[in-house]
Amino acid sequence: MTAHATDNTGTPAGEKLLELNNVEVLYDNVALAIKGVSIDVVQGGLVALLGANGAGKSTILKSISGLLSVERGRVSRGGTRFAGADLLGLAPPERVRRGIAHVLEGRRVFEHLTPGENLLAAASMHRDKRHVTELTEKVFAWFPRLKERARTQAGYLSGGEQQMLAIGRALMTEPRLLMLDEPSLGLSPLLVDEIFDIVRRINQEGGVSVLLVEQNAVAALGIAHHAYLVENGRVVMAGTAEAVQANPDVQEFYLGGGHQTDYHAVKHYRRRKRWLS
Ligand code: ATP
Repeated sequence: MTAHATDNTGTPAGEKLLELNNVEVLYDNVALAIKGVSIDVVQGGLVALLGANGAGKSTILKSISGLLSVERGRVSRGGTRFAGADLLGLAPPERVRRGIAHVLEGRRVFEHLTPGENLLAAASMHRDKRHVTELTEKVFAWFPRLKERARTQAGYLSGGEQQMLAIGRALMTEPRLLMLDEPSLGLSPLLVDEIFDIVRRINQEGGVSVLLVEQNAVAALGIAHHAYLVENGRVVMAGTAEAVQANPDVQEFYLGGGHQTDYHAVKHYRRRKRWLS
């Protein structure tokens, strides 16, 4: 897949938007969860971070959005740049203002509010009411199902609709980089296809760069341009989505012959350690 020509700021595609350089993350000052990770997302890119449970994918996203501090985690080494500026000294709200949106794992929405109210609550950074209405309509255009459920409290939406709403809330901040943590979790294959297709369009047509964390390697590689495989806090493979998908070990242990990944098999894969040597 090719990258889109420009992002939503008109910046030419291909320039680096996000750069992690040799980043280490410590929890509680002792547990080294990320061990020297370097990752790039170019303007207009759609990048997948793949790996099993506990590999460190969510921690990488939290280091970018700044949400590590609430979990007693910190970046202990390395650098992170976004749109050419150093990120590490910035508080999470400032990172949002600069265009970083993080959709956490687990579809966090306000259950007692309707979809529209949820979107409004996510737009507190905008003072112009007309602009907020435009953004809301844009989100409803990406996710027509949410408009159809406009009068329903979010707690009564289906899992897929709640995931759409969580992504919609992130879009209300007009991100340059949309980070999604396991959007496919617990959803039926049909819904995963529907949501991933919309994510692909948000990237291609909306010009929003995407960093997608997924255990569902089949779905993620189906829309990504580039992929990183994370294991035990390290990047053990990186390349175009096509190259990663074509790798025999990825085929065997992550793509399971086209089915959902069987992570029990990853144990055997680890024994071979072919990518680490
Ligand atoms: P999952 O898909 O299960 O979310 P992941 O690849 O996102 O896995 P992380 O959640 O980033 O992995 O976890 C990476 C490592 O950091 C794990 O060993 C985990 O136990 C540890 N870890 C994560 N959060 C914390 C925390 N708040 N305090 C201490 N250790 C943590």
